[in-house]
Amino acid sequence: MKLDRRAFINSSAATVATLAAPRVFAAGHGKPHVVVVGGGAGGATAARYIAKDSKGEIAVTLIEPTRMYYTCFFSNLYLGGFKEIDDLGHSYGSLAAGGVNVVHDWAIGVDREAKTVALASGGSMSYDKLILSPGIDFVEGAVAGWDLSAQNAMPHAYKGGSQTELLKAQVMAMPEGGTFAMVAPPNPYRCPPGPYERVSMVAHYLKANNPTAKIIVADPKDKFSKQALFQEGWADSYSGMIDWIGSEFGGANVSVDPAAMTVTIDGEETKVDVCNVIPAMKAGHIAELAQVTDGNWAPVNAADMSSKADADVYVLGDAAQQGDMPKSGFSANSQAKVCANAVRGALTGSKVFPAKFSNTCWSLIDTDNGVKVGATYEATDEKIAKVDGFISSTGESADLRRATYEESEGWYAGITADMFG
Ligand code: FAD
Repeated sequence: MKLDRRAFINSSAATVATLAAPRVFAAGHGKPHVVVVGGGAGGATAARYIAKDSKGEIAVTLIEPTRMYYTCFFSNLYLGGFKEIDDLGHSYGSLAAGGVNVVHDWAIGVDREAKTVALASGGSMSYDKLILSPGIDFVEGAVAGWDLSAQNAMPHAYKGGSQTELLKAQVMAMPEGGTFAMVAPPNPYRCPPGPYERVSMVAHYLKANNPTAKIIVADPKDKFSKQALFQEGWADSYSGMIDWIGSEFGGANVSVDPAAMTVTIDGEETKVDVCNVIPAMKAGHIAELAQVTDGNWAPVNAADMSSKADADVYVLGDAAQQGDMPKSGFSANSQAKVCANAVRGALTGSKVFPAKFSNTCWSLIDTDNGVKVGATYEATDEKIAKVDGFISSTGESADLRRATYEESEGWYAGITADMFG
């Protein structure tokens, strides 16, 4: 049965909340009201900046189910033993103190005609402008043999928190000389260097604790972000430990069996001890429910991050299809500031500055061996377009690599303060 948008919201609200008659919360109290869905890198930044810069002229509500946000950024360093899980957690207390109405709930539907967001706890919330930054969900059936019900046996660890802790526990429990397998994702996906930094950090842990263990990577791509830098680092630090199987060697032809703990690559079955399956990705489900996606991602206008489907809805971060920026926390933060400025301008008439974006992705290969890739971007009519970029070189000095790692530590402290206050 095909539901129209209004019917879907009514039916989904009814299934979760027969307990309470639907209520509409108009939290604006006469002021314009911005609702932000998703309190991660993009959503927290947007909520914080609109509340801070509008000085009370705009009411801002952030809808986020979790009380503590665990960053994916630096989660690989936790796997490698360089960070504790508590180093990655950020609460919403400062946002609330800064005037953001933080509601811990799931958004379960969007009625773009009525301009309301339905909440899992019942009722709905009206908005003047809606900002969606729900991150990613996985494409069903992307890896044969794997679905979300297998995520405890074969974790993705591509959303922060408990999945990352589970993967680390599994790596620590590997038998001597055991095998860690990764099924890497196809483009486009969250954090292009993320899988390969993860391989480096797992190798770092295993080299110290289980040096005869092996790592196999089945990759549907034939090249990947910072490849020369990673492969140089793997040869120098983890010689003989990592077997990367790209698409030309059958890396795209993969199936897994979570019950048997086997991975089959191009017809060859291997029994493994840990299997990190990172499936193909798409925009977080609420973007689909809001009907602002093309089936996978949500196309946006580069100048302000507004949806191409609706001028009152904005999509930030990983969920957005915006052009040249990689899907990263830095990108989401950068896009959120452009969006916050534009939303404030639209609602209060304040000055709107031309959109400028930047991003840097750091990766740690081994102790004090940090590398980076980054760029600046501008808005064109067509997309967010790259202006210029930089990347670390192979063969750099140990001092430069250490300085790059130290720079990444400063970045983490600075950007999480910029997001969460
Ligand atoms: P998220 O930060 O994922 O936030 C989405 C939020 O929305 C979540 O809190 C979720 O609970 C909430 N949400 C989802 N659906 C709903 C709903 N229906 N209702 C209410 N709330 C909802 N980036 C970097 O810049 N640098 C790095 O070094 C880096 N390293 C990474 C390493 C790894 C291993 C991984 C996996 C990622 C890494 N990233 C890095 C990428 C970065 O984590 C993401 O690009 C970034 O978090 C995207 O921000 P976002 O706001 O789009 O989504």
